[in-house]
Amino acid sequence: MQASINIRPGDLSQYADLRAEVRSFLADYARQHGKHDWIASWMGHSPQFSKALGERGWIGMTWPKKYGGAERTFLERYVVMEELLASGAPVAAHWIGDRQSGPLLLNVGTEAQRQKYLPGITRGETFFSIGMSEPGSGSDLAAARTKAEKTSDGWVINGQKIWTSNAHNNHYAIVFCRTSPLNEKKRHEGFSQFIVDLKSEGLETRPIENIAGEHHFNEVFFKDVVVADDCLVGEAGNGWNQVTSELAFERSGPERFLSNYALTAKLTDAMQGVDSDLARQEIGRMAAHYWTLRKMSSGVAKAISEGDPPNLEAALVKDLGTIFEQEIADTTRKLVHSSDIRSDEFFDLMQSYTVMHAPSFTLRGGTNEVLRGIIARGMGLR
Ligand SMILES: Cc1cc2nc3c(=O)[nH]c(=O)nc-3n(C[C@H](O)[C@H](O)[C@H](O)COP(=O)(O)OP(=O)(O)OC[C@H]3O[C@@H](n4cnc5c(N)ncnc54)[C@H](O)[C@@H]3O)c2cc1C
Repeated sequence: MQASINIRPGDLSQYADLRAEVRSFLADYARQHGKHDWIASWMGHSPQFSKALGERGWIGMTWPKKYGGAERTFLERYVVMEELLASGAPVAAHWIGDRQSGPLLLNVGTEAQRQKYLPGITRGETFFSIGMSEPGSGSDLAAARTKAEKTSDGWVINGQKIWTSNAHNNHYAIVFCRTSPLNEKKRHEGFSQFIVDLKSEGLETRPIENIAGEHHFNEVFFKDVVVADDCLVGEAGNGWNQVTSELAFERSGPERFLSNYALTAKLTDAMQGVDSDLARQEIGRMAAHYWTLRKMSSGVAKAISEGDPPNLEAALVKDLGTIFEQEIADTTRKLVHSSDIRSDEFFDLMQSYTVMHAPSFTLRGGTNEVLRGIIARGMGLR
């Protein structure tokens, strides 16, 4: 039987005061500190910005107060995320902890782990990386070969991860490891996840320069890295189930269509007063896409808040959203070349950033081909 896609938009209009509060905070912050690191949006890593946000209670917003959270709703969190992304604020330092490592610990971590790591995340002081991909194991995560072996006083990790964003800047990574030998008939069994201190002995982080010449991600090598028993996340052997629910958090947010919204806003401003049918068509088209994606994405946030993990719908939003983000680079180029518009240095930097990074939009967090497989399976089509 075929399943249907079921997304009911969340009502964001009720949080106008919170939205105004975030806008005012962002304007003040930008006035005081400048916007030089706001070009990269959610790839921009600024511990100083994350700390300021933590002081406002806007990291781990939905988490219990006893772990530093604010016990607010997923839709309130959505409003804050929307404003941060729309402005291009540099949120990368706390983004992973807030979006997925913290929720993973809330779901399957021990009480001691929650107490140890969650308050630091909410204060904007403790930063996490994702240790999933390996050479030869990206889309096919079950091919991961990094191994953790049980010893009398903990675990010993050997292997290699790749594309590990900000491993050189962050404190910890949640590392996906094989902990039982591969059984070809049950490839998804025998994995576990560990919290690894990125300064551990035996762990080496080597930079990978991206096409824009930036050091954003890394190779991470593990040579007899020892982690204590209390670094195991959840149940040994249950890593696959845990990592797939973590991926649902990773794929479900508005960052999958708002990465370059700040560029669209600048473009729209710059086109004010330009009498061009092409501009009207393209800007109208972009507005319609944003409107639809926002409705779908807020519906995903609403479903999460109702305890109904919307894996299929999240994959759909990410697929449509990231393709749209890539189109923005082309649309901007087309409009800039077709009109004699006012531009400024910030606009030019944002445009070149988007052109250079657009290829990664449909790769990071799982490629679109893989997402379409998930959508097809979810709909009973394969
Ligand atoms: C900017 C950026 C940041 C990243 N940060 C991190 C990070 O912090 N931590 C981390 O663990 N990983 C990270 N990644 C890695 C990312 O998750 C992988 O690049 C992604 O999952 C794809 O894996 P791969 O690169 O090995 O490509 P492959 O899996 O080798 O895919 C190559 C091509 O084959 C296609 N393909 C593969 N399998 C199938 C299939 N079954 N059906 C159809 N087509 C298929 C893919 O769609 C793709 O086009 C990051 C990637 C980017 C671009």
